[in-house]
Amino acid sequence: MTTTPALSLPAAGAPFERVDLPLRELRDDDILIDIAYAGICHSDIHTGRDEWFPAHYPLTPGHEIAGTVAAVGPGVTRHQVGDRVGVGCLVDSCGECEWCKNGQEMFCTKPAVGTYNAQGYDGEWTAGGYAQRVVVSERFVLRIPDAMGLDVAAPLLCAGITTYSPLRRWGAGPGVKVAVVGVGGLGHMAVKIAAAMGAEVTTISRSNAKAEDALALGARAHLATSAENALSEARGSFDLIVNTVSAELPMDSYLRLLRPNGVMANVGLPMTPYSVFPWGVIGGNKVLTGSQIGGIPETQEMLDFCAEHGLGATIEMLDASDPAAVNDAWDRVVAGDVRYRVVIDTSTISAG
Ligand code: NAP
Ligand code: ZN
Repeated sequence: MTTTPALSLPAAGAPFERVDLPLRELRDDDILIDIAYAGICHSDIHTGRDEWFPAHYPLTPGHEIAGTVAAVGPGVTRHQVGDRVGVGCLVDSCGECEWCKNGQEMFCTKPAVGTYNAQGYDGEWTAGGYAQRVVVSERFVLRIPDAMGLDVAAPLLCAGITTYSPLRRWGAGPGVKVAVVGVGGLGHMAVKIAAAMGAEVTTISRSNAKAEDALALGARAHLATSAENALSEARGSFDLIVNTVSAELPMDSYLRLLRPNGVMANVGLPMTPYSVFPWGVIGGNKVLTGSQIGGIPETQEMLDFCAEHGLGATIEMLDASDPAAVNDAWDRVVAGDVRYRVVIDTSTISAG
C-alpha cells in the first residue's frame, strides 16, 4: 500500500505526531498530488480542539493545499503530471443534485465530503494537507495560475474563496464602502480582494497593532475597537461588513455600522449564537447573513482573479520537522499573532 508522511493529532488538543498515512489506489478520476505547502486555517484549530463538535481521530487537518500533480488515474482529463494545482475544503460531492450542477458543491444534498475529518462515500475518513501527498478526484482539483507562487496560493483555497464569495455576492466594487472585521488569515485576504475589486475598505481590529499593515494590504482606514467610542463614531458608515472573527462579537454594535440596506456577511465560526435585537435589522432594512466557503467554479474564478490582480496571501513559512511547531503555530493563530497566514513547508514533514 502507498503511504505518505503526514502530521496527525491522536486526540483533541494533543501534540502533533509524524505518521505514515495510507493513500488509496488511484481511481479512474483520481489525481495524486505532491503537496508543497499547506496553510493553517483557524477551522483546523476549531476542529482539532473539538470546539465545534467532537472530531474523528487520528486527525490530519489541512484544507489549503498547493502542489503539483504526481500521477493521474486513467480517466483524468482536466490535469496532467507536473501541473500546479490546489485543493480546498471539499474533495467529493454527488455531482448530480441541483447544487452540484450549479457549482455550489458545498451544498450537495448527499452531502459533500470535506477534505479532512469527513467520511467519504467509500466509508473511509478523509485526511488533509498537513502531509506530503494526497489523492483527490479531479473534479475538486483547482488550477493554480503560473503567475502565483504555490506558497502564497495555498491560503487562497480556503481564506481566499471564503472572502471572495461574499464580496462578489454582495457587490463589493467602486463606490462601495466595505468593512472587514478581524485582520487574520481570512480578514487580510478580504482586504486585498475587496480593494482589488475597487471597494473602499476599512479594517476593524481589536487594536492598532495591525494598522500600518492594513493600509499596506489595501485598506483606506483602520479602526481599533479598543479605542473609546470607536464603534459609535463609525455608525452608518458601511454598505457591507465581512466579519471574519473567530470569537463572539456584539452583533448589534456592528449592525449599527451599516448604512440603510447594508449587509453584514459573517464567515467567522464561533459556537456562540448571534444575539440581535429585531430593530438591529429592521431599522434600515439590513441584511444579516453568512457565507460558507465557495463552490469549485467560483474557487477557480477567485484564483484567476487573484493572479490577474497580483494577489497572494501574506504568509509566514513554517518548518514542521518538529511536529510540535504546528501546535505552537496554532497557539499563535489563536493569539492573533500571525502576519497573516502560517503555511507549512510540507517538505519538512518526514515519517518518524
Ligand atoms: P484567524 O487568522 O485567527 O483570524 C481571526 C481574527 O479574528 C484575528 O486575527 C483577530 O483579528 C480576530 N479575533 C480573534 N479573536 C477575537 C476576539 N476574541 N474578539 C475580537 N476579534 C477577535 O482565523 P481565520 O483562519 O481567518 O478564520 C476566521 C474564522 O473564520 C474562524 O472561526 C474560522 O473557522 C472561520 N472560517 C469560516 C469559513 C466559512 O466557510 N464561513 C471558512 C474558513 C474559516 P484582529 O487581531 O485584527 O482583532
Ligand atoms: Zn479554512
